Amino acid sequence: MSIKITKECINCGACEPECPNQAIYEGGKKWRMIDGNSLKEKKNIPIYFTKYQNPIENNIYFIVSEKCTECVGFYEEPQCISICPVNCCVLDKKNLETKDKLLEKKIFFHN
Ligand code: SF4
Ligand code: SF4
Repeated sequence: MSIKITKECINCGACEPECPNQAIYEGGKKWRMIDGNSLKEKKNIPIYFTKYQNPIENNIYFIVSEKCTECVGFYEEPQCISICPVNCCVLDKKNLETKDKLLEKKIFFHN
């Protein structure tokens, strides 16, 4: 969970294609847990995973914290933080997870 986008976002869209978990969405867009991973191939997944959810933000890009693994298992550092031109992708200190937990999440999404 742990990266968030602040109100300083200029909606450039640079971060969205860089996310290996498709955890970043444009403001106003609906999102699903099964977007951009292999959850849909698993059996007996909760209905919640397949349903479109309402946007978390309407005017700026947003990160679905349940899908973010801080890029653990893919890259050495969070790609959204590296690419954002205005440094508005920051650690969400209210949603900290250990490296082990993040790796567990990555394996759950992609294996
Ligand atoms: Fe996606 Fe990585 Fe940014 Fe999380 S830290 S939102 S996984 S690019
Ligand atoms: Fe917003 Fe930064 Fe993503 Fe651009 S890269 S959309 S400014 S969070």
